[in-house]
Amino acid sequence: MSPAAAASRTLFPVVLSGPSGAGKTTIRDRLLAEARSPGFLFSVSMTTRAPRARERDGVDYRFVSRSRFEALVDSGAMLEHATVHGERYGTPRDNLDRAREAGAHLLLDIDVQGARQVWEAVAEALSIFIVPPTAERIARQLRGRGSESPEQLRRRLTNARSELKAAAEFDRLVVNDRIEEAVAEVSALVAEGLVPARRLGAADRRYVRRIIGELDAL
Ligand code: 5GP
Repeated sequence: MSPAAAASRTLFPVVLSGPSGAGKTTIRDRLLAEARSPGFLFSVSMTTRAPRARERDGVDYRFVSRSRFEALVDSGAMLEHATVHGERYGTPRDNLDRAREAGAHLLLDIDVQGARQVWEAVAEALSIFIVPPTAERIARQLRGRGSESPEQLRRRLTNARSELKAAAEFDRLVVNDRIEEAVAEVSALVAEGLVPARRLGAADRRYVRRIIGELDAL
């Protein structure tokens, strides 16, 4: 991003990614509840997967059929889209307009394939990769959800590994050890308007390599 673009950057989208079990959803919900200006507007994604208990259409996701999803992709209505765990997920392009009209940062909780598409389309987007302090935490939280079959669990663990490998391309790593600290860290990065670099620092890259090693040893 050019220095002029960096200086005029105010309501940039904020992308949160990270392996399942990293606590992204909790961080996201805390950020949305913060009294801050500018605030965040949650980017409601579209998905073809079935709703889980307590999920509301239009609030947590917009649940659509595969044919409707693919028609929207074909018409260019998606900012990004990806297949995650065999289901389709995507961000409608007009979520960006909604955030701008609301005077808020669009807050996206999406996978790494989608994150790459967002920062390619929106140069000022800030990308933050959330990791748990240990690989065991990923496995434990995945099992704890209780809604996945052993086969789905294996698939999610494999997916977590490939997500971790993509972390090096993000602007910043946030370790979610204590939730309040992780939320404060993300909030501060947004407030200071961290300029995107699309590359983690060396220490953070080492940290991620350690988590991948732990995951392989489980
Ligand atoms: P879940 O089905 O558990 O809600 O989400 C599974 C994964 O899909 C999570 O990593 C979540 O971040 C990702 N995801 C949710 N919405 C989107 C989206 O709109 N685009 C992309 N690329 N990934 C998404």
